[in-house]
Amino acid sequence: MHEDVRCPCLSGDTYSACCGRFHAGAAVPSTAQWLMRSRYSAFALGHAQYLLDTWHPLTKPSSLELDPSLTWRRLDILRTESGGMLDSDGVVEFTAHYRQDGIPGQQHEVSRFQKVTGCWYYLDGESAG
Ligand SMILES: [Zn+2]
Repeated sequence: MHEDVRCPCLSGDTYSACCGRFHAGAAVPSTAQWLMRSRYSAFALGHAQYLLDTWHPLTKPSSLELDPSLTWRRLDILRTESGGMLDSDGVVEFTAHYRQDGIPGQQHEVSRFQKVTGCWYYLDGESAG
């Protein structure tokens, strides 16, 4: 992906100044919400390895197959609970909008995150609404 395009998480920043730093390993997300955004961008760009790397060891799948028929279009963060720099747990509720074979759909989820030795990991998620 081109470095100066808008980040898929729609923060308003360029990809390289936003989730690209995390995907490249140049920085580590400091909050649960940033990890969530960077994981969404990884889904949007097909970075399966980043998704596995940021999955909690307790719940991480042995492999991950991304569905190529899904195009991720937009992320809306609806609510966050804890997940700040001084927290060790966090919750992020979001809706991710996609198109599958041209048909719009959305995934509404409440995700739980946990910090392990200074890094945030995705623990699990529950469909909501
Ligand atoms: Zn981003």
